[in-house]
Amino acid sequence: MIPGDGIGQEVVAQGLKVLNAVLPADVKLETKEYDLGARRWHRTGETLPDAELDALKTHDAILLGAIGDPSVPSGVLERGLLLKLRFAFDHFINLRPSKLFPNTATPLAGRPDIDFVVVREGTEGPYTGNGGSLRTGTPAEVATEVSVNTAYGVERVVRDAFARAQARPRKKLTLVHKNNVLVFAGHLWKNIFDTVAKEYPDVTTDYLHVDAATIFFVTQPERFDVIVTDNLFGDILTDLAAAVTGGIGLAASGNINPTGAFPSMFEPVHGSAPDIAGQGKADPTATVLSVALLLRHLGYESEAARIEDAVQADLAARDGSARTTDEIGDALAVRVSG
Ligand code: ATP
Ligand code: MG
Repeated sequence: MIPGDGIGQEVVAQGLKVLNAVLPADVKLETKEYDLGARRWHRTGETLPDAELDALKTHDAILLGAIGDPSVPSGVLERGLLLKLRFAFDHFINLRPSKLFPNTATPLAGRPDIDFVVVREGTEGPYTGNGGSLRTGTPAEVATEVSVNTAYGVERVVRDAFARAQARPRKKLTLVHKNNVLVFAGHLWKNIFDTVAKEYPDVTTDYLHVDAATIFFVTQPERFDVIVTDNLFGDILTDLAAAVTGGIGLAASGNINPTGAFPSMFEPVHGSAPDIAGQGKADPTATVLSVALLLRHLGYESEAARIEDAVQADLAARDGSARTTDEIGDALAVRVSG
């Protein structure tokens, strides 16, 4: 566990509570807490020392709360901790399921059957730090931010997405890109997508330009089952997906290395929320749902489903009265063990 900063501490405690409640008695859970994040950086100047990176490698999975605080210069913890972990453990799949839960504040409330998952590439695209600036700070400045797309990187995420689509009842996979304008990267993605599709004849495939996809996320979200897309488009689409399906307090995610070579990491999509930290106001549901993703990744499917059912029931029973972080965690723990 890396509880991290702000409400990260509060929500990870609830995630652990529910994890303990859902696991069968014969499963022995061992956890270790890593003190990483803003406080550690202030105390020691360290973000993620190699010794701790090596220690983290020995675990089956990582549960992260949130990293970041306004007192730390922007980029220090993102690059020194979050991106360092992502590249060291080769988390090339960023998984974000979106389901329309009951009783949630969403512009799409009452729409039937919104249940899709975005498979976002995690290690390439414009997020590799490949680029630069010439004549910086002058009126003639030129800045480039190169999008890196390798056949190796695209194929492995596309394969993962096809496998996920095949395992779901609707078996539909949509590739989202912008290959009419970003022709080089776009054609690499489309060619690999079409080639791998031949191995999955029972998966229905679709292609959408990213601008069209944003429209359909709002107007026809039920048309999506599994979506595969690059790092940048995925970043934007997954926040949109969270907003239209119930808000940031419910959005769970996984940074996954499906090969099992390194531990995968699960975390709520929201940040450390310094505005409400320490007040017991944070909704731990996104973290609890991240625990469900963690369990499913490790093969505990029935426990994962019990957590998701518990969240569904808890949300359906909400009557608008305020509950503390702890109270929501307790209620979910009771539901998964009952
Ligand atoms: P980061 O840069 O770390 O991603 P952010 O600026 O995107 O942070 P968040 O920390 O995600 O912001 O918070 C955005 C808003 O959502 C804040 O007003 C915060 O209080 C609220 N919020 C975030 N997570 C939760 C939660 N679990 N429960 C309730 N409110 C939340
Ligand atoms: Mg954010």
